Amino acid sequence: MKFDTALVHFDAAPGDPHRPVSTPISQTATFAQETALELGPYDYSRSGNPTRGVLERQLAVLENGTRGFAFASGMSALTAVLRLVPAGGHVVAGDDLYGGTCRLLTTVLARHGVSVTYADLSHAGTLDRALTSDTALVLFETPTNPLERIIDIRAVAERAHARGVRVAVDNTLLSPCLQRPLERGADVVIHSATKALSGHSDLMAGAVIVRDARLADEIAFLQNAEGTALGPFESWLLLRGMKTLSLRIERQEANARKVAAYLATQPLVTRIHRAGLSGSRGAAVHAQQASGSGGVLSFETGSVEISRLVAERTRLFTIAVSFSGVGSSISLPCRMSHASVPPSVKRAGRLPEDLVRLSVGIEDAEDLIADLAAAFEAAASEAPRSRESVGKEAFRG
Ligand SMILES: *Cc1c(COP(=O)(O)O)cnc(C)c1O
Repeated sequence: MKFDTALVHFDAAPGDPHRPVSTPISQTATFAQETALELGPYDYSRSGNPTRGVLERQLAVLENGTRGFAFASGMSALTAVLRLVPAGGHVVAGDDLYGGTCRLLTTVLARHGVSVTYADLSHAGTLDRALTSDTALVLFETPTNPLERIIDIRAVAERAHARGVRVAVDNTLLSPCLQRPLERGADVVIHSATKALSGHSDLMAGAVIVRDARLADEIAFLQNAEGTALGPFESWLLLRGMKTLSLRIERQEANARKVAAYLATQPLVTRIHRAGLSGSRGAAVHAQQASGSGGVLSFETGSVEISRLVAERTRLFTIAVSFSGVGSSISLPCRMSHASVPPSVKRAGRLPEDLVRLSVGIEDAEDLIADLAAAFEAAASEAPRSRESVGKEAFRG
């Protein structure tokens, strides 16, 4: 079965004699046992729930893993994976990561004696320098977000495995529709299912998918022991959203391509970041390991003020964190989603203050481009007047 067929053809209600085509929501905390001594397939919803079970099998199928796990959020999925690192252990993390992941690594894990080295893994050889004898995990996103740098999943996995280190890829940005890291040697795939997998900005959820049976048992143990699993209603909502994953991403990608072409002609745009943009570093690697670039892109204007005005003058792009919903959104990552990125990383110029990120939705592309054009025009006419007063003030954060 090909990916798009698997999205809608799966056993929605295993064992149900009525064969509903939509998975029933098993809104229950506990399950009656036949006898005091025998457990059924389910006993308590923290440990396992039929609705979540259908979702978790589907997550495993779509990422080409053997087992999937649904969590209450992307952060709880990441937390479970980082629990695999023992006290005194070390993590090598990509240096362009989701802000919340940085916060988890540098503040929460530090309390448990886990140290982290941020490395630009898009350069071959950087990983070898960052690995220590205590390294237990390499964690990264590719394309990175928001800078859209490309990391070679297979090359990192080979180098890490040679040192006995596990590799986890946060595949939130592209989703399994466009990239399946387990097929290229990664041990763990993580998702914020709040983004593309659900696609409608109406729920919080996370996912972990693995192939190795022992690793699966460890994640299952942590999910139950720490009580971080996704509830039945959210599981159902996520299952429903996932059925249209390919349709949504196809349209978002087509729209994003048109928006990027428009931005290339806009004089106020000094630089565009989009995975796999022809001629960009990493484009060849990206083409090998992914089948598209999705609907997220970012650009620079050379002026924080212009960037803010563009974001505030658009009408169809909602100013909001998060991405890959059906509606377009716009954000200034340095002030919003990535406010928790360590200052040293920002200072090194790797996350420009004037960066604007767009998540292009499923609207009509002409409307989106007209909206951006009007916003740039407004920004250009307002900027000189407000340069002095807005400048740094508005961004004290
Ligand atoms: C949003 C996001 C997360 C966190 O997920 P939540 O569902 O918000 O907890 C983790 N990784 C990436 C790449 C994200 O974009």
